[in-house]
Amino acid sequence: MDTIDVIIIGSGIAGLSAALSATENGARTVVVFEADTEIGGASRLSGGIIMGAGYGLQREAGVEDSAESFYRDYMNANVWNLNPAAVKAFCDESGPTIDWLVGHGVRFHPDLIFGGAENTPRCVAAVGQGGQIVNGLARKVRQAGVDIAVDHRVERILFEDGRAVGVVVGGEEIRSASVVIASGGYGANRELLAEHNPSWTATGDWGWYIGTGTAQGDAFGFAEQLGARIDGHDRGLRLLHPGFVRTFESYIPGWMVLVNKEGRRFVDESSAYGVLDRTTHSNGGVAWFVFDHQAVDRSTAGNTKAYKQVMPEREDRQSPNWNPAMIAEQVEAGRIHSAGTVAQLAVKAGLPVDQLQATVEAYNDGDHDAFGKDAQFVRPITEGPFYAAEVRLATLCWTGVGPAVTGRGEVMDTLGRPIPGAYACGEVTGGVLGDVYVGSGNSVGNSATFGRIAGRNAALSIAGVPAATSA
Ligand SMILES: Cc1cc2nc3c(=O)[nH]c(=O)nc-3n(C[C@H](O)[C@H](O)[C@H](O)COP(=O)(O)OP(=O)(O)OC[C@H]3O[C@@H](n4cnc5c(N)ncnc54)[C@H](O)[C@@H]3O)c2cc1C
Repeated sequence: MDTIDVIIIGSGIAGLSAALSATENGARTVVVFEADTEIGGASRLSGGIIMGAGYGLQREAGVEDSAESFYRDYMNANVWNLNPAAVKAFCDESGPTIDWLVGHGVRFHPDLIFGGAENTPRCVAAVGQGGQIVNGLARKVRQAGVDIAVDHRVERILFEDGRAVGVVVGGEEIRSASVVIASGGYGANRELLAEHNPSWTATGDWGWYIGTGTAQGDAFGFAEQLGARIDGHDRGLRLLHPGFVRTFESYIPGWMVLVNKEGRRFVDESSAYGVLDRTTHSNGGVAWFVFDHQAVDRSTAGNTKAYKQVMPEREDRQSPNWNPAMIAEQVEAGRIHSAGTVAQLAVKAGLPVDQLQATVEAYNDGDHDAFGKDAQFVRPITEGPFYAAEVRLATLCWTGVGPAVTGRGEVMDTLGRPIPGAYACGEVTGGVLGDVYVGSGNSVGNSATFGRIAGRNAALSIAGVPAATSA
């Protein structure tokens, strides 16, 4: 086979964006290798919510925003414990990337969404969720003459004389001018999770991953072959899960009361999941949902405001875990404790009796919730039976440890220098998604934006054009 211009490993939103961007920037031969039998990876399963600043749909909704403001919010939320150059490039190019997707026919609902705890809404949801973004990009990529080879797992990257020069697939060496690693996370690989995500691993049998089986973390091998630096530790978004059945529940009903092992509340329960992840983690990673019979009835009657975030295409969502049928089943199974008084409940759940009683009293009496929870979610806990269920940060959504990249999408060596011919983008990289998940859409935004940047630079490097942070 002749030398290919750009080889891309993985056909999620990062890989497909890189492929399209490479063709737009002069690459003549681009091949995408995909390990799975279908395209799309985690991106295909995703809600298709994307985050950015300063894009057309945001302006049309009358929201003033800027990349600079996004960058400050992002870095402050993560106490600057990230790769600042890479995050800067992401924030600068995130808005133009959403415009670029729209220009390529990807359709988004016009309503803006608050993805996390930000003051400015920065997210939109794709019509038809992540599958529509993947299919839309794949159509464009194929129209541009790119071959997407499914069921082709890249085994190794060829590294010669200090540069990436191709890959090995099915034992065959395939040469290229540049290689873009877009192989996603490692959520399906328990061994890598034990090494890189100890706090999720500590959830034991409760822990489960919502993505695809091909999220095996092959990039750690690629990084070793290239001599690349690995960024991040213990990073990845985790959702609270009660260990009932493995259903994906992104938001918990806001009327829940969440207490730590001391029986104290520690957060506004209607907060975004990135906030619940960090605050629960700071409280030992284990917590208890406490509620009463009224809350159960209200959830059935539908007159309790349960969710702060209303996502397009999911307006009528019902909690898969916190509904009367499931609660009855789990009380029977002993996973939910129930008792006639709060004191008895505390004993059954192993929580301090005095503190749990004091917590419930304060919650019931409070005119103004100590954590700022909006009154429409606050339901007093007054009518028995009372319930308590242990929850853990067990649902793993994405992983955040991987090869470090420059703001130009180049893979860095252990000294922080770009490795010639090697690029990476999306969930596979470390240093862009931080300890605090800035909000829904952060990951898809990162994948599309860095896909564009990496694809562009991988293509332009062939003509000797210096890499840039712009897409
Ligand atoms: C159910 C679900 C819902 C989500 N919802 C959202 C959301 O709404 N918004 C948001 O921002 N984030 C969301 N996320 C997270 C987000 O979807 C992902 O982090 C992001 O899409 C990752 O994109 P990617 O292209 O980097 O990786 P992926 O989409 O995972 O693509 C990587 C591809 O590489 C392939 N691959 C792996 N190894 C190899 C190899 N050796 N050779 C060849 N191919 C290989 C994989 O099979 C996969 O197809 C969600 C995740 C899930 C699972």
